[in-house]
Amino acid sequence: MEKNEMMVIFDSSSENESFARMVIAAFVSRIDPTLEELADIKTAVSEAVTNSIIHGYKDGKGDIRMHASIADRELFVEIEDEGVGIEDIQRAMEPMYTTRPDLDRSGMGFAFMEAFMDGLEVVSEPGKGTLVKMTKKMGAI
Ligand code: ATP
Ligand code: MG
Repeated sequence: MEKNEMMVIFDSSSENESFARMVIAAFVSRIDPTLEELADIKTAVSEAVTNSIIHGYKDGKGDIRMHASIADRELFVEIEDEGVGIEDIQRAMEPMYTTRPDLDRSGMGFAFMEAFMDGLEVVSEPGKGTLVKMTKKMGAI
């Protein structure tokens, strides 16, 4: 199967969290993921998108870019915002670390992304936005 690639840009409103889940689900459907693989991908994407909405843009306006490609039954997906960025990425990725305990956040988003995907990389700088890159290889069919 040939490589397939897509990109979508949407507003940082909370209703676009489910939109992003549906788009990535539709995109990966052509490689017949298992229900578990599909659930993992949707969860990881919605965690990253939610982070862009509530942390990156602090519930304000901004663009979120989702870029994905599939080649050889492996998914690459990037979620990018131009929000506030992350000061200490290593610390932010620790389970149960959150800068928003006031919003009842539990600090598990990155831990879920790491657990549900095969690869997770975060590129961010204060004031320069955040790029989350994830990969997942589907099992053979
Ligand atoms: P939860 O995901 O469990 O609701 P959380 O969002 O705080 O809680 P993580 O998703 O693991 O936990 O993120 C950890 C921290 O990393 C956040 O509290 C925030 O400070 C920072 N962070 C994550 N994504 C972004 C982003 N896109 N822009 C700015 N800061 C971010
Ligand atoms: Mg989160």
